[in-house]
Amino acid sequence: MRKRIVAGNWKMNKTYEEALSLVSEIDNMVKDEVNGDVTVIVAPPFPYLQSVGKLTQGNDRMFLAAQNVSEHESGAFTGEVSAAMLKSVGVEYIIIGHSERRMYHHEDAQTLYKKLKAAIAQGMTPIFCCGEPLEERDADRHFDYVGKQLHDSLSYLSNEEFDQVVVAYEPIWAIGTGRTASSQQAQEMHAYIREQLSRMFDAEAAFNTSILYGGSCNPGNARELFSQEDVDGGLIGGASLKSRDFTDIIKSF
Ligand code: PEP
Repeated sequence: MRKRIVAGNWKMNKTYEEALSLVSEIDNMVKDEVNGDVTVIVAPPFPYLQSVGKLTQGNDRMFLAAQNVSEHESGAFTGEVSAAMLKSVGVEYIIIGHSERRMYHHEDAQTLYKKLKAAIAQGMTPIFCCGEPLEERDADRHFDYVGKQLHDSLSYLSNEEFDQVVVAYEPIWAIGTGRTASSQQAQEMHAYIREQLSRMFDAEAAFNTSILYGGSCNPGNARELFSQEDVDGGLIGGASLKSRDFTDIIKSF
């Protein structure tokens, strides 16, 4: 069965104290208000992972994600953090291929493939991000663009490896811009992604993969987006920094 997931990507925001307050508030609201079967993920900055994880330990619906991982196992890679290190502090999910990392850190398809392998080798779940820039959509090339992103990083995985992957569709023009994809635009791209996945992997695996939408998702538009057949939840940036908004998004299923 497909998991319904709402993941909050905190990016490079919040001091340590603010991060602890935010996660405590989310933890309490999720316990008090969220019914049903939703996997809630928070992705704080690296230095806060362990402390944030300790606060969510007693909540069996909440899980910890990292925003990045090294493609290397260990060694002389100053400033990098390995999948094994993340696992050892309780991280279960890793965001891989976010457009900000592709853009500002020049992460290419092959590097992302190695990061996927590194996460999967540790039994962790990659949240693999894809999504087109505005000029590709305006030129009506968005399907091909996203299809290539999927093919170039995911297609080298085995069926067993792919079973662990969650995909997030994040059109770059919708990230942090307040401009959301319409539910129809999201649905048609999610259906396309699922179809591409079914060509690369077995059909059952593609059917069972959670595909999240990301891009200016908020409490006002989440219900409509999440009601689409192939939208299995959201990867939330700005709105995940406010406990009320994030919880209301979680409650939108
Ligand atoms: C993101 O960067 O993953 C994201 C979806 O950001 P926002 O919700 O702020 O658009």
